[in-house]
Amino acid sequence: MNKTLFMLIDALAAKRRLSEEEYAFLIANRTPEAAKRLAELAVSVRKTYYGNTVYIRGLIEISNICKNDCLYCGIRSSNRSCDRYRLTEDDILECCREGYDLGFRTFVLQGGEDPYFTDERLEALLHSIKGAYPDCAVTLSLGEKSYESYKRLYDAGADRYLLRHETAAKAHYEKLHPPSLSFGERMRCLRDLKAIGYQVGCGFMVGSPFQTVQDLAKDLAFIQDFGPAMCGIGPFIPHKDTPFRDETAGTLELTCYLLSIVRLIRPNILLPSTTALGTIDPIGREKGILAGANVVMPNLSPASVRKKYMLYDNKASDGAEAAECVDSLRERMTSIGYEVVAARGDVKPL
Ligand code: SAM
Repeated sequence: MNKTLFMLIDALAAKRRLSEEEYAFLIANRTPEAAKRLAELAVSVRKTYYGNTVYIRGLIEISNICKNDCLYCGIRSSNRSCDRYRLTEDDILECCREGYDLGFRTFVLQGGEDPYFTDERLEALLHSIKGAYPDCAVTLSLGEKSYESYKRLYDAGADRYLLRHETAAKAHYEKLHPPSLSFGERMRCLRDLKAIGYQVGCGFMVGSPFQTVQDLAKDLAFIQDFGPAMCGIGPFIPHKDTPFRDETAGTLELTCYLLSIVRLIRPNILLPSTTALGTIDPIGREKGILAGANVVMPNLSPASVRKKYMLYDNKASDGAEAAECVDSLRERMTSIGYEVVAARGDVKPL
């Protein structure tokens, strides 16, 4: 047993913070015993805030048209093999209607940075959704925008915004993105979202190309300092039509380890057990929950477009990933001692 490792875990559980160097040590020297201890602590702190409940979000992938060219992403603009689509306002409202009947009380509108979805169109859409379902929360995940745009969408009723920081290390960020996207701008967006009043989600991929232990330690230190309401953490998975096609995927083991650490840093955080985790392991979603996650986001997009929102190879969109199979998801969560609830599932105060 590595004494320093366990001392650091105890210190993290007690103080909710470590230094970047300590996070690096925790990652570099991890053992199965350390992972088990972290998961026990994470689950126990999670229970204090959220009991044994699991929040569900209906994920509506509104467009796979994207002006950006992120090197890791299957819907990057230079991927000519991607079959592009865009949902209409009616399509999106129909998804919400189906989702509401299935028990969803949060809708997540996610998409590429599609210029069609102007502030005006998104405002109209938000008014329609909020008008029809005033008891529901709406999360947007539509990429980088100006302060003014974020503010308009917030004023039109958006409650939360997910914008993964992708990596908190500037040099690493530049290896994953084209020069038109900058680390500084990504950070500006996250700060603006928080200042406006959104429940903000950041996040990163585990095992993305060129990622070092030090980079991951920076991600954890960033989460500690930024204090997000949500954090999306999933393994990187290569896509065959991207420059990273031959890179290795991130692991379930390290993703779960990091989920536990993030839960201990921010006990009240809304932490999804991601689709990517469910893609690399048939019971990845369950393992994420048992590591300290408390949210799952089944796919509520029309079945006809699900295979087109292919961010990475073999992205799961059926079985427990499909909103219409929420009963099977409920059963799977019950089998590990958790209960899926029909609630907005806002972040609880610390
Ligand atoms: N355009 C919005 C944005 O950039 O925030 C939302 C859509 S974007 C496709 C959603 C997330 O998918 C990204 O933040 C990224 O972390 C994740 N993603 C993209 N490609 C991936 C891959 N190959 N493996 C795992 N996750 C990936």
